[in-house]
Formats: sequence, C-alpha cells, structure tokens
Amino acid sequence: MSDKISGFFSEVNEVLEDKEPPSRSSQEFYKKFFPNSTLNDWLDWKWQTKNRITTKEKLEEILTLTDSEKQVFDLHKKNLPLAITPYYASLISNDVNDPIRKCVVPRIDETVIAPEESEDPLGEDHQSPVSCIVHRYPDRVLFLSTKRCQVNCRYCTRSRIVGEHQCFKSDTTEWNKAFEYIQSHKEIRDVLVSGGDPLTLSDNKLEYILSNLRKIEHVEMIRIGTKIPAVLPQRVTPELCNILKKYHPLFMSLHFTHPVELTTETSKACTMLADAGIPLGSQTVLLKGINDNAETLGKLFKGLLKIRVRPYYTYIADLIVGSGHFRTNVETGINIFKELQGKISGYAIPKLIVDAPKGMGKIPVQYNYIKEINGKSLTMENYEGKIMEYRNG
Ligand SMILES: *Cc1c(COP(=O)(O)O)cnc(C)c1O
Repeated sequence: MSDKISGFFSEVNEVLEDKEPPSRSSQEFYKKFFPNSTLNDWLDWKWQTKNRITTKEKLEEILTLTDSEKQVFDLHKKNLPLAITPYYASLISNDVNDPIRKCVVPRIDETVIAPEESEDPLGEDHQSPVSCIVHRYPDRVLFLSTKRCQVNCRYCTRSRIVGEHQCFKSDTTEWNKAFEYIQSHKEIRDVLVSGGDPLTLSDNKLEYILSNLRKIEHVEMIRIGTKIPAVLPQRVTPELCNILKKYHPLFMSLHFTHPVELTTETSKACTMLADAGIPLGSQTVLLKGINDNAETLGKLFKGLLKIRVRPYYTYIADLIVGSGHFRTNVETGINIFKELQGKISGYAIPKLIVDAPKGMGKIPVQYNYIKEINGKSLTMENYEGKIMEYRNG
C-alpha cells in the first residue's frame, strides 16, 4: 500500500473514532450491570427490549438517584412509566446534570402542572376520525401504529397514550379501519407512521402496515417517525432494511436530542438506513438545560449530517402536563437559531417550530431579518448583524 493510500485509511479510521463515545463503554456497562449476559445478547434488540430498565430498583443499581428522582417513584401516581433500554442507559453518566439522564429519568418536577398545560396539548384526539389516525392537514395524516416505545422520554407529547406496554387493542382491526379511512379520502397523499414507536413492532407487523398503505393508489409517500436509531440502534438489521426498501418513496424522521447520542452504533444504523435509499430527517425538541444552546445544537446538527441525517424540525417543547421544567421560551429558541444562521451549513439548520395548541398546527418561527420596508427599499440584516439596503424588484 502506498503511503498516500495508507494515509487515507488512517484518516478514515480517525473519522470513525472521532464519534462521541458512550460515557461508559458498552462492554464495561453490560458486564457490570447485566453480568449474566454476553456481547451477543447486548447486540440483540430483543434482549435489549426484554432487559429494559423499568423499576426504581434496577435504576438505582446503575445511578445514584437524587431526592427529586427518588420522590417521584414514591408518589405512585399514574404518570408515564419508566423505560430505558440498557444501550441508552449506557450513555448516561452518574452526573445529575447528564443530558440523557434528564430526558429519561423522572423527577419530582414532572408532578408540577401549569395552567396552560394539558394531556393532549395539540388537540389530536379531536382530529381523530378513527382511533389511530390524526387528520389535521389537508393532504397528510398521522398514523398512530402502536402505543409502545422502547424508551419513554419524560417530555413526550403523547404521554397520554404511550407506555401502556401494549399495542392498540387488537392492532390489525384498528389498523384496518385506518387503511379504510385513508382509502376513502383521496386527498391523503402522505402518511406519517408514528406512535409510540413503529419500530417497536415486529418486522411482520411493520410490513403489514407498509404493504397495506402501498396498496392505496393515492398515497404518494410514506414516512416513519422513530427514535430507534438513537435508543436501540441494534433494531436496525439488514432484514429490517430489506423490508423498508420495498416501499419507496419511504422517508424517515429520526428523533435526536443531544450529540451524546451520535455513537458508533447509531452511526452504523443510520448508514444502513441511508444505504437502503431512505432519505433521513431528524426532529429535536428544544429542552431546557439539555440542548438549549447554539453550541450543543450546532454540534448535534453537524454530527447528524455526518451520518447522513438532514435536520428537519426543532420544536419548542409542547405544553404537555408536567413539562414546565423542560420548556424554553420561544425567544430563546429564536436566538439560538439566529446564532447558528450563517455559521454552519444551511443543510445543518432545521426549521424551528411551535406546534400550536388545539390542533392549530405547526408554526415556523424565526428572527425577522427584514428591519424595514420603505417603498422599493428593504432594510435587512445579514448573519453578522450588518445592516444593508436591498432594492426590491
Ligand atoms: C407534524 C404533523 C404532520 C406532518 O407535518 P409536516 O410539516 O408535513 O412534517 C402531519 N400530521 C400531524 C397531525 C402532525 O402533527
């Protein structure tokens, strides 16, 4: 091998090693907390699912819980159940301010309910003609395929339905009603399969949904919304990719929160999906003390492009019950995006969105770069804050 070529390969290796490593290596983690398991178990998504951390006792083996984290378990309220895959737990450090910890470990703060908060802040239940469809926009619907997620995010928009550890009652019956609804509404050209997380379903069930949607002629595109590549990358198998690629045009919206999630495992999962021809977008919720600054978000967005995921939307946290400790105000979000504008690739900058209450839909918000309109003269501000005159056509 010539020097030039070996130089190239060592560079490639460096790029791979450059990925944010898990805060504890996976190997160390499973040997310590799942001593009877093997590396093969760890790599098996079904093992990961079976061994999810769902009790205070198991969580306490892994983390030293704070009073606020302990208290919430003692209340025995019917809040969103705890659920963390061993893989995702391996990304959490014992630091109380660890970003992933704040996302998935419940705190007493989530029992504090503000007057503007509600169970169904987006008014989805009122726009639901059949139980697993939300039809808000004219040409597209949300298809709630399952109530299950592998990891329960504490700020979940659908915490009212997630976590019952089951799918919709006899899912195929419910799904069939949804197919009929879509079939009879010719204006629906885009179906967004979400939940819960559709990739918690078995390959067979997922294929049942995709193949039935594909039979409907006016459905031009299918999208899957999932957090699996971040919380259980082992689920992305060659078999799954072979199924997905039969149903193109199929897009995926992947939920990412923090650059810590961009591990070698996640990178591999996204590469497999991208190689199956699936355009990948990402969705991020702006969360106080977790990712609400330009440095963290910039790093996340640039990191996503490196694994072929195009940042699509960033949301102000929805007004879900008990989410006040997560919510940043809209101005903070706008300022962060103003800071990013022009500093990083345009491809790395998603739209900032307020999902308006009562089913009013997504509203893009951004800094107003037009300072004044005076006849044909526009006064505008560039990314460096310089003011300029633009002669309007
Ligand atoms: C977000 C959402 C969609 C998809 O919106 P896009 O802007 O097309 O990504 C569709 N239906 C509902 C109910 C939604 O909340």
